[in-house]
Amino acid sequence: MSKKDKSFLPDTGLEHAVNLLRQVSKIQENLPDRFPERGIGEVQTLDLLAPHVFGRAARLDDSHALAHMDPPTPWITWATTLWNARLNQNLLHPATAPFAIEAEKKVMDWLTPFFGMNGGHMCSGSTIANLTALWAARDAKGIEKIIASKAAHISIEKAAKILGLPYEQISTNTSGQIDLDKIGDISNACLVLTAGTTATGVIDPLTLAGQAKWTHVDAAWAGPLRLSSNHAHLLDGIDKADSVAISAHKWFFQPKDSALIMFRDADLANSAISLGGDYLAVPNIGVQGSRGASAIPLLATMIAWGKEGIADRIDHSMSMANILATELTKEDKISLWAMPKTGVTIFRPLTMSTEKFFQCLPEGMFSTCMLDNEKWLRSVAANPLADIEEIASTISEAIRGTIA
Ligand SMILES: *Cc1c(COP(=O)(O)O)cnc(C)c1O
Repeated sequence: MSKKDKSFLPDTGLEHAVNLLRQVSKIQENLPDRFPERGIGEVQTLDLLAPHVFGRAARLDDSHALAHMDPPTPWITWATTLWNARLNQNLLHPATAPFAIEAEKKVMDWLTPFFGMNGGHMCSGSTIANLTALWAARDAKGIEKIIASKAAHISIEKAAKILGLPYEQISTNTSGQIDLDKIGDISNACLVLTAGTTATGVIDPLTLAGQAKWTHVDAAWAGPLRLSSNHAHLLDGIDKADSVAISAHKWFFQPKDSALIMFRDADLANSAISLGGDYLAVPNIGVQGSRGASAIPLLATMIAWGKEGIADRIDHSMSMANILATELTKEDKISLWAMPKTGVTIFRPLTMSTEKFFQCLPEGMFSTCMLDNEKWLRSVAANPLADIEEIASTISEAIRGTIA
């Protein structure tokens, strides 16, 4: 290899890559069967891969995409993610990433007050954020068990297994919230409350926060509602929690992998989850070792849109879910599980099986979930570009059997 290996320089091929974002052709060529002995070069590789990468992925910005908690991402995050890839900074080593560390501190300083927290860090997802919180709860406060509702995310059970702590699952009431009457002694427990359950978007009673030895709020999905003056009250009580997890790659419209773990007393939490090492200039805080500068796309989004721009998009998603649910209540052949609490609308047909109905609907419009041994259709308003009137009329037509 030459001293100036052009593969590491900002080549004009990058512009070609950006152009491929706008226009992709049909798949012309299959991928090589084997690991090629000789490479074909960057630009040819982009042309070969683009139709596969773009052609065989769901478009989360599609006007009928409403299936999952994965949002479309704004282009400012594509640009800043490209910058991140170019620099490959590592937040484990402050010397390599002085601005990225400052950016993360800014993001934390700007977001933690909405939740009554005073610090924390970013990580790859709420699975890791939840594990980090429960690790802090165990080693900073000596909690002896983890309690959560049956509707809590599987990452809570994973964390209990990893940490070697007993896990108690409490049944839910008819609204899908943790059943208050079933919660026993919590004086030595970490109580996990969910703000926006993954299946139904229900918020546990956050008034319980602060009553257990440690309260963790898993706000992976619904946390960003706190930025909306119209909806912040739905999360009242969250500021009494000891820790809060949010997936920024859900309702903060960030590319993966982006999440926040926040603590009410970050010094206390950090003292329990920090380890030093010979090769480290500062202790490593949290579960991950090397990690990238995911704060930069988030900071860029926060500056470009402002709090108002983020809140407007979340409010719009909430109102789409409401419109959809209201339309569904008008259908006598459809059962609506409940009015949506946090943009998640659950329903099923009464005249045919949910699976059969699901097959009649366009791919990527909805997902399915199981509730009390019954299959339901699930829609998540994570896509501000969805055409909710069109989606509602597609359901109407499908239930009447008039769809092609
Ligand atoms: C999505 C989700 C998680 C897991 O978050 P990841 O970012 O996918 O790791 C945890 N809890 C809830 C309530 C979620 O919706």
